[in-house]
Amino acid sequence: MLAAIEKVPRHLFFDNTTNRPALLDHAYSDKALPIGAGQTISHPYTVAFQTEQLEIKSGDKILEIGTGCGYQTAVLLEMGAKVYSIERQKTLFDKTKIFLPYIGYGGAKLIYGDGYKGLPQFAPFDKIIVTAGAPYIPNDLLEQLKVGGLILIPLGEGENQEMIWLKKKSMSDFDRKTLGSFKFVPLLQNKSGN
Ligand code: SAH
Repeated sequence: MLAAIEKVPRHLFFDNTTNRPALLDHAYSDKALPIGAGQTISHPYTVAFQTEQLEIKSGDKILEIGTGCGYQTAVLLEMGAKVYSIERQKTLFDKTKIFLPYIGYGGAKLIYGDGYKGLPQFAPFDKIIVTAGAPYIPNDLLEQLKVGGLILIPLGEGENQEMIWLKKKSMSDFDRKTLGSFKFVPLLQNKSGN
């Protein structure tokens, strides 16, 4: 996981409409930074934590909710995962769809859509990672997980979220752990037209 993070050039992922030189100074600090459309790239520690908890194996089929600038997507690709990632903001989606292949991460399937619904057409997934704070755990996501699979989802509508880890034991039975407090932008309902 650390080797993958070391390989991904985080300084290329920022919003270039804001004060880019000022941001560049912080590219490798443990900070969330703006990526446009009012969204942020997650803290590197958060990306590392979620990635480690997912126990990625080469060839794992992963669903990511909240593509954003594609940083987490790139880390998952570096680890040999097969990545499907959904973004609800059209401007971010359009930008990241061009940007990721441009810097050498063309391997992910990027979808403009509503992450609450998941991707039934590509299910089931070995692992699901949600990178925005959810008010509840969407049932569609639980259904699209393989038996034996893991989902990591930050839960809570306030300023902080609890990181929830769920392992699907059978079609209706899950093991559950709470892995500490994190800060995410909210998981919003429906696609946005811009
Ligand atoms: N994984 C990203 C994190 C970006 S922040 C990264 O590495 O940069 C979370 C992202 O989730 C934002 O881009 C936001 O627009 C998106 N998002 C919020 N609600 C969503 C939803 N319902 N479906 C898909 N994406 C959503």
